[in-house]
Amino acid sequence: MTSPSADRPDRPDRDRGHPARHGARRGRRAAALPPAGRAPAGRPPVPAPGARVAGARPAAREVDAVVVGAGPNGLAAAVTLARAGLEVVVLEAQDTVGGGSRTLDLGLAPGVVHDICSAVHPMAWASPFFRSLDLPGRLDLLTPTASFAQPLDGGRAAIAYRDLDRTADGLGADGAAWRATFGPLAERWEDVVALALGDHRSVPAGATPRSAVTAARFALAVLRNGQSVVPSTLRTEEGAALLTGVAGHAITPLPSLAAAGTAVLLTTLAHAGHGWPVVRGGSQAIVDALLADLVRLGGRVVTGHPVARRADLPPARAYLFDTGPRLVAQVFGDAMPPHLVRAYAGFRYGNAAAKVDLVVDGPIPWAHPEVHRAGTVHLGGSRDQVVAAERAVGRGRHAEQPLTLLSDPAALDHGRVSRGVRPVWAYAHVPAGSDVDPTETVIRQVERFAPGFRDTVVAARGIPAARLAEHDANLVGGDISGGAISLVGMFTRPTPRLDPFATGAPGVYLCSASAPPGPGVHGLSGWYAARRALRQVFGRPDTP
Ligand SMILES: Cc1cc2nc3c(=O)[nH]c(=O)nc-3n(C[C@H](O)[C@H](O)[C@H](O)COP(=O)(O)OP(=O)(O)OC[C@H]3O[C@@H](n4cnc5c(N)ncnc54)[C@H](O)[C@@H]3O)c2cc1C
Repeated sequence: MTSPSADRPDRPDRDRGHPARHGARRGRRAAALPPAGRAPAGRPPVPAPGARVAGARPAAREVDAVVVGAGPNGLAAAVTLARAGLEVVVLEAQDTVGGGSRTLDLGLAPGVVHDICSAVHPMAWASPFFRSLDLPGRLDLLTPTASFAQPLDGGRAAIAYRDLDRTADGLGADGAAWRATFGPLAERWEDVVALALGDHRSVPAGATPRSAVTAARFALAVLRNGQSVVPSTLRTEEGAALLTGVAGHAITPLPSLAAAGTAVLLTTLAHAGHGWPVVRGGSQAIVDALLADLVRLGGRVVTGHPVARRADLPPARAYLFDTGPRLVAQVFGDAMPPHLVRAYAGFRYGNAAAKVDLVVDGPIPWAHPEVHRAGTVHLGGSRDQVVAAERAVGRGRHAEQPLTLLSDPAALDHGRVSRGVRPVWAYAHVPAGSDVDPTETVIRQVERFAPGFRDTVVAARGIPAARLAEHDANLVGGDISGGAISLVGMFTRPTPRLDPFATGAPGVYLCSASAPPGPGVHGLSGWYAARRALRQVFGRPDTP
């Protein structure tokens, strides 16, 4: 399939990104979303990691493959194709590479950089694709003593330590149930990953009869925690709240089987391998490693190149879209069967997150003395409180006390402290398309469990859900999951068909989180899609 290269359409708004390491251009443009806090205006730009401009325009001559979007999945697809010896060009709308895994200087405080989307990476170390590149060995993963914490009112908290026994000991009457559920799953985490993060179509490679036992355990845990017919084995307020906070990652009304699946996967990883780590220097290091591999293999990334129509693409034999399905229908609809065009154009997005990046001048003053050990804190209170908040969001209302996720990366990564101040990463769940600035709500929610927090805040930038797409067009209405989450949807996204990556247009593939296995920085959607392209377009059946 070929198409001519043509005029560049108007550029979308962007984050402040400054090409840094590959000899590219410097400090070109202003932030689309100016700081909303107390950051002084007019500060000179500080080079941020991860910005790349590898060429002004894509080649007009035919290349083997074009990837649209340089998120973790787009880069994973590009690396997979380049590893097979193909010539690959990646076209990225933004001026910075990495999509949902970028770390940028937002101008809030000198030397302080922020993870503008993802911050915590259980799926990165567990990803079979990233492991095939030895990313866990090449990155400096910093594993917190506690993977996540759930503070409760009155200065109490439930803590999921990386160490399962310590967790169980802290959960009192629920300790045995927690250990019985997650002990065997954590021991067999590779089977859990193969099941939950597979392509949802094939039997995982290397599956054994013991894998089937793990699958049954996984399914039972999901069933027990995903609906109200079979009661959960967790009875204490602490145990129930701890698991509900993780289930909340699905941003869907609770309980639900999809949310329980998310909770069981993420909790298994909390007690295995690197736990829930942050990456030294920020999430950008993950995509920087992928980019380095791609460049070493001869691939190219062109930034500042939004694709909106066929004419924006150079001729190629295969196109892979690290974007939402709607863009594929927009660009290649004339080559797709009409029913798939309709399904892609009507692809359903889910509820949303509103992001707050803060700068604080000291550690967070948690009321409970163990919460500071957690790399991720779920701020929502008891199970009932989290369920009520998520239900409100599901009904299109703002919860007064929304489930809020928070990470203080400098607690592990001391290099993130600059001149005595440090970044804090947070987002709150809100209805799709919310245009409400979440800053005050998030500060209030932290203050609830960490009295005095407000006084440590030096600067803050809140981004309403409706504006997240300004720095990544995939975040439609603030949906950070690449589409609405449901159990059926996890297996059928983007639309029910045998091959979820093929779009019906010859040589055109979807490779983003809108395809299996869904959201997270794992690169697996890109890997699975690229392997199909290699087989189907390039006749390479045995590619890695
Ligand atoms: C606030 C937030 C917090 C998150 N926290 C975590 C976390 O802690 N851990 C975790 O594992 N996951 C987290 N996630 C989810 C994770 O970031 C995503 O699931 C992941 O980045 C998806 O990767 P992707 O490559 O499919 O898409 P993306 O990362 O969204 O990348 C898509 C890329 O395509 C580009 N693009 C889009 N449209 C076009 C176009 N028309 N032309 C050219 N380029 C285009 C975008 O600019 C972007 O660079 C979070 C997401 C958000 C938003």
